Amino acid sequence: MTSNEISKYKKILENKQDELERIVCNRDAITIEKSADALDEVQHAAERELAIRNLDRESNLLRNVRLALGRIEDGSFGVCLHCEEEISPKRVAAVPWAPFCIQCQEQADKNQEDGNEMFEDMLVNAA
Ligand SMILES: [Zn+2]
Repeated sequence: MTSNEISKYKKILENKQDELERIVCNRDAITIEKSADALDEVQHAAERELAIRNLDRESNLLRNVRLALGRIEDGSFGVCLHCEEEISPKRVAAVPWAPFCIQCQEQADKNQEDGNEMFEDMLVNAA
């Protein structure tokens, strides 16, 4: 990857980081609304649940973006964390914060469905 491309991705990642930090820091937006109406309660609970799930996803994404910025710093950006092969330029362009190449990501997704936390541990250790 050329240094031009690296600095382009760095900018994208920094912008994404800012954006996500704003969302994740806005946790207070998830307020617990009290309602006398039982049906309303259910509705609010569902909305809260959804908001928390979104926040979870955003937090994970933010972590991946931060890790990717770290890899730009240490020169390993664009390399899969798992198999250490280069991630395809198309994938990097589409998902600059992707920690894994497409094959390893598929494996990771599959492992996650099976409740295997190995990839999760790897990300934590890489942080
Ligand atoms: Zn890989």
